[in-house]
Amino acid sequence: MSKALIAHAPGGPEVLQWEDIETPAPGPGEVLLRQTAIGVNFIDIYQRSGLYPWATPTLIPGGEAAGVVEAVGDGVTDINPGDRVGYVTAGGAYREKRVLRAERLLHLPEGISDVTAAASLLKGMTVQYLVTACHAVKPGDRVLVHAAAGGVGLLLGQWLKALGAFAIGTAGSQEKVALALQHGYAHVINYSTQDFVPVVRDLTEDKGVVAVYDSVGQDTWAGSLKCLARRGIFVNFGQSSGLITGFSMGDLARGGSLSAIRPALFDYIATREELLERSADLFARLQDGTLQVPAPHTRPLRDAALVHADLEARRTTGATVLIP
Ligand code: NDP
Repeated sequence: MSKALIAHAPGGPEVLQWEDIETPAPGPGEVLLRQTAIGVNFIDIYQRSGLYPWATPTLIPGGEAAGVVEAVGDGVTDINPGDRVGYVTAGGAYREKRVLRAERLLHLPEGISDVTAAASLLKGMTVQYLVTACHAVKPGDRVLVHAAAGGVGLLLGQWLKALGAFAIGTAGSQEKVALALQHGYAHVINYSTQDFVPVVRDLTEDKGVVAVYDSVGQDTWAGSLKCLARRGIFVNFGQSSGLITGFSMGDLARGGSLSAIRPALFDYIATREELLERSADLFARLQDGTLQVPAPHTRPLRDAALVHADLEARRTTGATVLIP
């Protein structure tokens, strides 16, 4: 037996219950992991609340974690008990112990702690595919990023700067603006007090940006389109303010032959090769210092409901990591 945070019905943070669950022995091709650090992501909230429909009667949220291998099943050759590994999954991480397919695990390089891995695997590989696959960012590109002081936002700003882009961010308070400015953004707009559209048009001599990375969704999408240059791309990779409604293809024509994409990380790391390629890029940047994970807030795993409440109320910056 080990402990997990389980929801029996969709709802608020209070639906997460601290319960005993069976810990099966690893089957063929599987690994049993004792988890040491579990990352919190806004996606966990979409899962818990039911915005993302459940495929099972109960739900254990959580998409990224690190830990130590306790046992391996038949046929697992490249992972051994005692190895330090990390992973991203579509859910199920809020627990002490977990059985996983070996091919989804990543060995953690020296110098990358379990907490850093849990704070950056999902968010960092997201940033990696956003700036290489959704829009291949080039030196001098002007881009706009919403929620720049969030977990993804602070990594995205640094990565864009390393690529030589001129990154404009938005954030919901003066404290968040100051933090984002320390993480690669050339300019950050407090969109709680100011309309970001005229500021972006002004900062780009009315030319607009070539890409908008928008994870806020309903509250920002219309403004985001107005910030784009002719033939720019609207990358909507989340909806922390709610699902986008009212969008039509005609909006893209009116904006100047724009394109739009709604990507998800798991389509960019679907194969072992893609997972290894994107994680290697992330690890290299963490090791050479071009990407730094701001000291994550840590909380006991059992307190995940409190972290969810803070994240939903926009009280957090950067990443939070749960410790079993
Ligand atoms: P964040 O730390 O960025 O938290 C969300 C932020 O969104 C808040 O801090 C807040 O920042 C902003 N926000 C704006 N409006 C609201 C609102 N009404 N309610 C709550 N928050 C709001 O979270 P993550 O770093 O975990 O994730 C960022 C986004 O990226 C999420 O939308 C997530 O779903 C998405 N994502 C998508 C992936 C993909 O592959 N598609 C993969 C990983 C993440 P502020 O106060 O500054 O406005």
